[in-house]
Amino acid sequence: MALNNYFYYDEQTCEFVPVEYNSLERIIYTACIWILCGVVLSGIGISILSFSVGTPAEIALKAENQELINQLEQTKTKIQDLDQEVEQLAKADNEMYRSVLGMEEIPYDEREAGAGGADVYSEFDVYSQETSEILKWTAENLESLERSINIQKMSFNEIKSYYNNNSTKLKHIPAIKPTEGILLSGFGMRFHPVLRYETQHDGLDFRANVGSKIYATGDGVVKYAGLKGTFGRLLIIDHDYGYETYYAHLSSFAKGINPGTKVKRGDLIGFSGKSGRVSGPHLHYEVRKDGSPVDPINFLFADTTPEEYMMYKDIVENNHRSMD
Ligand SMILES: [Zn+2]
Repeated sequence: MALNNYFYYDEQTCEFVPVEYNSLERIIYTACIWILCGVVLSGIGISILSFSVGTPAEIALKAENQELINQLEQTKTKIQDLDQEVEQLAKADNEMYRSVLGMEEIPYDEREAGAGGADVYSEFDVYSQETSEILKWTAENLESLERSINIQKMSFNEIKSYYNNNSTKLKHIPAIKPTEGILLSGFGMRFHPVLRYETQHDGLDFRANVGSKIYATGDGVVKYAGLKGTFGRLLIIDHDYGYETYYAHLSSFAKGINPGTKVKRGDLIGFSGKSGRVSGPHLHYEVRKDGSPVDPINFLFADTTPEEYMMYKDIVENNHRSMD
């Protein structure tokens, strides 16, 4: 029997005497040793795990923290999108509404300036660098966005009140697209398709098949309706307040349209064509202020949204050829 394998030496009898074991005691003793070892080893294991990975509560907190950082990253993307939209509104506001109406532009740095200084968000410094940085970015940019939106609101109110006080003048200022065709080419230096070199293009070119309807872009009086050199068949409207609009390369004028005819914004005045020096049928449209051509893209505000305005800007900036 394995339990009887141990002996002790009896000095009185001078012989080895087998050790007597109680089986139950031996089992309890062995079990206790194993339990003790288990407890000690588990303790050591848990300590090592806690030190390197963290306690279950710490692991849960870390996961929660990571989720919050992910959410903040998503918020950051949304803020950037909103910021771009507000920027588009600000551009249309300054370039299309305020400048055409003769109102002072609101500088972009004034619109975007944040009120926060370097130390305003130092309370976030207690967090990890990653968390602190994203919290500061979010707080600063939200504040700046709020400010831009408030300035935009005030600007629109100002424009509204200007409109109410100047409604007669605003009916005369050119403010809509002269035709339904899409915009092809813009104002400025452009490659001329007939001359084959770059030259100043004083208007906008719209796609228009021969016979497309052309409309007056503001109230006024027909100043000229006839042939004029490279313009071909040309119609000029005098809108008063120093504004004139030119509609060139027409195929014909609408019935009753003669020099001296009074027109209102949106009235049919003629039909597009390809008369004069052109590479193909289209409408060449100019806006002149005190005799000098100005960029007509800023005179489309009555039927153009800020998004469309940005789209037109994009088209004219990226197309370096004109139609005439
Ligand atoms: Zn043109």
